[in-house]
Amino acid sequence: MSPTILLLLKHIVLLIVCIAGDKLSVAIQKPHILKAVIDNVTHAWIGLMVTEIVVRNFQDQIGRNEKYALIATGCVISSLIDLDHFIEAKSLSLHDATNLTERPFLHNSSIFLILLISMIGAIASKVQYSMSLWLTVNFIAFFTHQLRDAIRRGFWFRAPYLNYSTAPVIYWVYLALTQLCPHATIQLLSMQKGRTTDDYSVKYKYLEVV
Ligand SMILES: [Zn+2]
Repeated sequence: MSPTILLLLKHIVLLIVCIAGDKLSVAIQKPHILKAVIDNVTHAWIGLMVTEIVVRNFQDQIGRNEKYALIATGCVISSLIDLDHFIEAKSLSLHDATNLTERPFLHNSSIFLILLISMIGAIASKVQYSMSLWLTVNFIAFFTHQLRDAIRRGFWFRAPYLNYSTAPVIYWVYLALTQLCPHATIQLLSMQKGRTTDDYSVKYKYLEVV
């Protein structure tokens, strides 16, 4: 199968995962544990697919084990972010965890902004490629998770003297940004010197300001 068709199929599957996960999360209200599992698996799957598209594009820069470690990390962090509900509730009860008065700390969108700035800083200062990729994978996990949550509650930015929530993200904007996320990060990573071309379908060039 040609790399272009493979990439297209991945995007179709990603779109289906987003829509099916959201529809199921709404349709299945009980038992609560099943709803929570569907919601969490959807987050994990999106994190896995977006990370895989990015990491695969740079597999010539890293070893095979690191490649799988990065993809697994993107998946696991996307899922584990929701553990903060239980930490904040100081309880293992799903009821307590989903009935917090404030949003839990790992849902602070300042986190993905800090990761994005760190990632851009790493790329600009031309650190080891591997470090840029690890920062990118963490950014992807937090961004895709919080973007999906934002269709219901908006983004929440918490910092000293700041406690601000945006309006909920429009559904098709969430779908579009999820599809664009891997390619925007690939474009950024491609700006780091030392990148060699590989056999993947999408070849990125440096952005040129004319
Ligand atoms: Zn969440």
